[in-house]
Amino acid sequence: MLQCPGETKTNSIFYAVILNDVLQQSESLPVLIVGAGPIGLELSVALHRCAIEHLVLDAGSIGQTMSWWAPGTRWFSSNERIAIAGVPLLTPDQGKATREQYLTYLRSVVAQFQLPVCTFESVIDVRPDAAGYVVTTRSTAGENTYRCGAVVLAIGGTDRPRRLGVPGEDLAHVDGYLREPHRYAGRRVVIVGGRNSAVEAALRLHHAGARVTLCHRGEELPEDGIKYWLLPEIKGLIAAERIRGCFGCVVTEITPSHVVAQSSQGERRLAADDVLTLIGYEQDKTLLQRIGIELTGENLRPQFDSETMETNLPRIYIAGTAVAGTQTSKYKTFLENCHDHVDKIVTHLTGAHGDHVESVKPYARQIVSQPES
Ligand SMILES: Cc1cc2nc3c(=O)[nH]c(=O)nc-3n(C[C@H](O)[C@H](O)[C@H](O)COP(=O)(O)OP(=O)(O)OC[C@H]3O[C@@H](n4cnc5c(N)ncnc54)[C@H](O)[C@@H]3O)c2cc1C
Repeated sequence: MLQCPGETKTNSIFYAVILNDVLQQSESLPVLIVGAGPIGLELSVALHRCAIEHLVLDAGSIGQTMSWWAPGTRWFSSNERIAIAGVPLLTPDQGKATREQYLTYLRSVVAQFQLPVCTFESVIDVRPDAAGYVVTTRSTAGENTYRCGAVVLAIGGTDRPRRLGVPGEDLAHVDGYLREPHRYAGRRVVIVGGRNSAVEAALRLHHAGARVTLCHRGEELPEDGIKYWLLPEIKGLIAAERIRGCFGCVVTEITPSHVVAQSSQGERRLAADDVLTLIGYEQDKTLLQRIGIELTGENLRPQFDSETMETNLPRIYIAGTAVAGTQTSKYKTFLENCHDHVDKIVTHLTGAHGDHVESVKPYARQIVSQPES
């Protein structure tokens, strides 16, 4: 019989070792959640409250997606919209939570509810068997299998940076992630992109002492795709030529010393010590395709029933931003408008309707009509 993680006697919040020791191949869990991001954890709390045994597996750390944000990055969403499971998210300055504050918050939620989370264990396959599903995982310890009745894929949609597809993109000074801003001080940084990530990086690196060029393929900044509080500052700094704006420029090549771009005025060569290609992120489709989830449309969105979140495969659900596939240019699906997935899944699993997501109830209608992100 599976030892319920809630019964595990430990003061540590790091259950991975304990759980990996306890779970045996022959045991079967009612539910297995893939992904310990905010939505996977919010669902885990909801199942915990319903006394439904389950396990959460993540390929990386708790909140892996936030863990690769540059230090000090703030959420665009207000705290109440990204709080999970009715646990208040408070910040010392009442501002929007930083990456560090939010990761701490997620760890606190795991600790408070003693959630059964195994980190650094990737789910690589899910196959049906007589009783439900057999889930195969891989970690540094090797391959493992779990049996379960239902699987929830809360795997997100930002597994890797989008690529420009130009020569030189794999050079060592080219990166799809913004790192610690300090490291760019005094360097010539060309940032490719024109939406929130690129504009926010341009501002932060400028203030950290980098010489920044913002290179965007559009003739001007897409104002409807940039946060209203970032826009005046970036426009002002470009107008004052403190940040160099390079618009209508399509990057064709990256060399060890330059970014080469084509514009209506011909070829431009932008000197660069570092190049950041901040043009969005892609969902990894490998697991979805291997399992047999149908993917539709331009974004290759997983197919699912919007009432129950069940995919085309029985008792395999999808939750969180994973539902949107790879989102292009203007994101529409965020953590803040995914909280209802938890209720829908718990309702379908238990057959009993209930409001499992306390935190967002007062904001639910507002969030749907006017998302902040
Ligand atoms: C700079 C930046 C700022 C952002 N600001 C906001 C904002 O203000 N508001 C907002 O709502 N959203 C914002 N987002 C988007 C935000 O990241 C998502 O809304 C949020 O992470 C979605 O949560 P999730 O639980 O659906 O998925 P994720 O947080 O992406 O979690 C998915 C988890 O699944 C795991 N996983 C994936 N595949 C596997 C596998 N095969 N096996 C095991 N584990 C797996 C991943 O490691 C990951 O931990 C921002 C994103 C960026 C990059």
